[in-house]
Amino acid sequence: MSQDTTFPAREINDQDECVGCGAHLSDPCHPLCPFETGEFGPAVILQAANLRVRNHPAGIGYDLAGAIFAAAIDLAGRDQAQALADASRAVLADYLVGQWGPQAQAIHSQVVYRHGLFAQLAEITVSLYGAADQYDDNTPTPTPDDC
Ligand SMILES: [Zn+2]
Repeated sequence: MSQDTTFPAREINDQDECVGCGAHLSDPCHPLCPFETGEFGPAVILQAANLRVRNHPAGIGYDLAGAIFAAAIDLAGRDQAQALADASRAVLADYLVGQWGPQAQAIHSQVVYRHGLFAQLAEITVSLYGAADQYDDNTPTPTPDDC
């Protein structure tokens, strides 16, 4: 079987795990890993963005939106990058507002920007992964929703 479509090489985090499926560096990806299917969602984009934050300094702090956009371009290509980056940024904003409390709702559109400027790299990593986890948890799986 020849592959007509080339997906980007999987990206490995500092835990030596694939950011798409969590497979260890020495193991193959899960068949449903985004790097296998070519279907990239906000969770993998946010984790891939974490690998790029250092490359997006913003005077003080970091340009988180820039890192997210760069990850979206690298993984999903230019055609899909804008929509995917917007969705990923929204996931992160929702997560940060959840962390910061109700008063942060008023600055919902600024939380990603402010977090990039004022948080330490370690905190940024925690929030990007936390947002990705939260997104995965909230994403409907094939099991029925019994709310
Ligand atoms: Zn993988």
